[in-house]
Order: sequence, then C-alpha cells, then structure tokens
Amino acid sequence: MQLLFADQLGPHFELGGEVLLPIVKGQFRKRPYHRQKAHLILYALRSRAQDPNVTAIELDSYRDLLTIDHPATKAVNPSSYPFRRLAQALELELTEARGFCSREQDWSDYAASAKRLRLEDFYRKQRVRLDLLMEAGEPVGGEWNFDDQNRLPPPAEPLAVAEPWLAEEDELDASVRQELDELERQGVRFIGKDGPRKFAGNRQQALQALAHFVEHRLDLFGPYEDAVDQRNWAMSHSMLSAPMNLGLLDPLEVVRAAEIAYRQGKARLQSVEGFIRQIIGWRDYVWHLYWHFGEDYSNKNELGANQPLPEFMTKLAAKDLTAKCLSSTISDLAENAWLHHIPRLMILGNHSMQRGYSPAQVNDWFIDAFVDGTPWVMPANTIGMSLYADGGMMSTKPYAAGGAYLSKMTNYCGDCPLNPKKRVGEDACPFTAGYWNFLDQNQQLRSNHRMFNAYAGLRKLTDLDQLREQEDQRKSF
Ligand SMILES: Cc1cc2nc3c(=O)[nH]c(=O)nc-3n(C[C@H](O)[C@H](O)[C@H](O)COP(=O)(O)OP(=O)(O)OC[C@H]3O[C@@H](n4cnc5c(N)ncnc54)[C@H](O)[C@@H]3O)c2cc1C
Ligand code: SF4
Repeated sequence: MQLLFADQLGPHFELGGEVLLPIVKGQFRKRPYHRQKAHLILYALRSRAQDPNVTAIELDSYRDLLTIDHPATKAVNPSSYPFRRLAQALELELTEARGFCSREQDWSDYAASAKRLRLEDFYRKQRVRLDLLMEAGEPVGGEWNFDDQNRLPPPAEPLAVAEPWLAEEDELDASVRQELDELERQGVRFIGKDGPRKFAGNRQQALQALAHFVEHRLDLFGPYEDAVDQRNWAMSHSMLSAPMNLGLLDPLEVVRAAEIAYRQGKARLQSVEGFIRQIIGWRDYVWHLYWHFGEDYSNKNELGANQPLPEFMTKLAAKDLTAKCLSSTISDLAENAWLHHIPRLMILGNHSMQRGYSPAQVNDWFIDAFVDGTPWVMPANTIGMSLYADGGMMSTKPYAAGGAYLSKMTNYCGDCPLNPKKRVGEDACPFTAGYWNFLDQNQQLRSNHRMFNAYAGLRKLTDLDQLREQEDQRKSF
C-alpha cells in the first residue's frame, strides 16, 4: 500500500493500488497557522479521503507511524528533509519525487555544467528539454523572455480582467470549520480570517481554476505581473500555487495548457512566456535549490539579523500601522492567506530585511501565514531572495528598495500620510528611511560591486546622523 503525504493529493502521485492517507491535525499545534491555510489543507485531505482507493487514518503526529501497525510499504519521495528522514525510518520503498517539471537528474546535469547557478540558464534548458514555446530549436517570437514589456506600473483605470476563480463552499467546508473551532477550543492558536475558502481543495476544483485562469486571465498576466494595485488584490495572477503545492495540479499540465492558449490565440506571447517562466523556471529552480543548498541553509544569517518579528506580522494585525503599503498588505494577508509575488518580496520581504528580523523566524512565518507555504519553497525565497541572509548564494545583490520603487510599482503612496520622498521627519517614509538605514548598518555590502551606486548615494546624504537617530528610536511603522 502507498503512503500518501498531504502535498501528494493528485493523480500524478498515484503509484497504483490502495493508498493510506494520514490526517494529522497535530501539525497545527506546532506554530500558529493562518486559519484559512489550515482550512484548505484539512478540506483537501478530507476530500481526498472520500476516494474509493483511500484509507484515511487520524494521527496526532506523522511520527506515530513509527509505532503503530500500518500497511504502507511504498511512497513517492516526500518534499522536505524531515519527511524524507521519516520515510527512511519507515523503510518505505521510495519512488523519485514528483510534482515538478524536472527530475533530480535534470538538475544535476544543469548544475554540473553551470559555472554559476542562474535562473535564466536553467529556464532555457527547461524550455528546450520540455519543448515549450519552441519552434525549430528557437524560442517562439525570437526572444527567451519579454521582461522588458512585463514591468508596467498599476494602470490608471482598474485592470479590466475577469475575476479570479474562487471556490464555492460546500458541506465539507462547514464540517472542516467545526473541526477547526474544536481545535481552537482545545487551545490551538490560528491567525487570520477563515474563509470563505478561495482556493481549490480537490482535483475537480483545481482543474476548474486552471481552465478559468487560462481562458479568462492569462492574457493579461504579463504586462502587470509586477504591479501592486490596492483596487485589485489578485491582479492577473493565477492563484494556482496552492493547488500545485498540494499536488492537486501537475505543473506540467498547467504550462501545457498555457502554451495551448497561446497557440490558439487566446493569450499573448509575453504573458504566456512570463507565466511558463514562473513555473518551469522559478518554481522548479527553488525546489532544486532546497536540496542543493542543504538543510542548514534555512539557518543562514550572514547579515547578523536578530530582531524578533513585530506583532503586526505574528498576529496579522494592521490597525496600528500608519504606512499604507504595510497595513493594506497585512490586511489582505489576514483576509486571503495569499499575496502575489511583489507584496511578498518588495513589501514584506524588503521590510523584514531593512528591519533586521531574524531570517529563521521570517522563513517560518511565511510558511505558516500563506496558503501555499511549504518548507521546500521558502528558503530560497526568504533566506536567499528576500533577506540576502545567504550572503549572495541566491541573488547577486539584496532586493532592498525604498519608497521610490513602491510609489512607482504600487498605488498606495497617494493614500498614505507619509511621503515616499522623505527620509527624515514626521512624515518620513519608513521604506525610504529604512533603505538608507539598512545600507548604513550593513557596510560589509560595500564590497559588492553591484552596490556601488547605492553606497555612493549614501555617502552623499547630509542628514545621515539625523536619519540614524530617527531609525534607532523608531517604534512604529
Ligand atoms: C518571500 C516570498 C515568499 C513566497 N512564498 C511562496 C510560497 O509559500 N509558496 C509558493 O508557491 N510560492 C511562494 N513564493 C513565490 C510567489 O510569490 C508565489 O508562487 C506566487 O505569488 C503565488 O501566486 P500565484 O499562484 O498567483 O502565482 P503566479 O504569479 O500566477 O505565478 C505562477 C506560478 O509560478 C510559481 N512561482 C512563481 N515565482 C515563484 C517563486 N519565486 N518560487 C516558487 N514558485 C514560484 C508558482 O507556482 C505560481 O503559482 C514566495 C515568494 C517570496 C518572495
Ligand atoms: S509613502 Fe512609504 S510607507 Fe507610505 S505607502 Fe508609500 S512606500 Fe509605503
């Protein structure tokens, strides 16, 4: 019998025959999860448990499998270090990991031939190997990427894009909600609002969500993929990370569907290429980096950042925040357990790096607060990309940005009492002040030639002492 882990719920994980599915609510006791995330996981497990070849068992911990009698003998190799250790201890016969567009061998072949790891090189190899958007060995449209067309700021009028597919709750949602209420009565703490559930929680819903995105929203994905618009929380993003990370959708079927939409003239090339890049490029890249960098990578802290996370993050409480970009982002997160890439990277990640929050805490918080958070996806995205806590293993320079970037790529600043152009004073923008303060506090970055201009700018500041004092005493944002 096959042991099925909670992120292996779709048909591409089936080895054939009967399946044993542990339902482990003890996971929710370990750290405060977003309640909407707990809801989605439990819904997905309970939904899968209804399939005829599945035997579900209720456990308090996965480790209970080591002490009880159970019929599982095989599994698809799980997606994290702790679960791989467990699978070894259970002496399961393991099949190579699934749920990605490349295998370990594809990565080894790439990494062995690479002078240094670069997403762009890995992505191009994937395009060729998978024969995606290729014609006679060349990329369709003559370019590998259309990033220069895909960086538009938020449009003046709200983006004319169809609403995202949102789940319609059913009886199972109601019973899941009761289970979570019961856990809360037993003292389990959650954060954020539970529902209505938005994300696909079974195979049928996942296919509907994919079809809706490809048919109605993919075309506009590209141009505004980096824009943050307070009038439109989802913009043209797919919201498919959760069903993909639960194993309900095979990423290959997702990118093939996107390519077909292009070939049928339903979506423009710049959008389809941009979307495919996110999946066969970024998603697979961070998956392989999780194993490539090793388990200790999550403990890296090259900038010596040791501040605890603020309450507005740990409790998802926006009410005391003045900074409009931060308060809206935290409110959206409390509401939806999801944000698109730029608020994650350039608002929450950037803020966390500027303020020196402990990388390990940031990493765990992102896993728990986001509906699509998993142990494998997070280290490269937080420790590497957002916080530069790996000293440059993942990115060539820190993604640090001040109010100038945020006032261009978001439309929060117009509604904010603070001024993105001001670094000192009552109405100083905490991102602008935070940017300069971050450079000042991390002088070791001066040796990075890509930071030359940034440090040249810092040297020209005439009010640096004032800024230091202001940021030293800062108690609120
Ligand atoms: C700090 C931080 C935390 C993140 N946390 C998660 C997370 O918990 N789970 C997660 O799946 N992604 C995470 N990402 C990556 C990305 O932000 C999300 O995949 C994306 O916002 C999910 O929304 P979507 O499905 O609408 O994506 P779209 O914008 O529609 O993109 C399509 C798909 O591309 C993939 N993708 C794009 N970028 C990345 C990336 N950097 N890493 C991995 N996959 C990527 C996702 O599977 C996504 O569904 C994080 C990024 C940052 C900077
Ligand atoms: S002024 Fe600064 S704090 Fe206010 S919304 Fe703009 S970037 Fe955010």
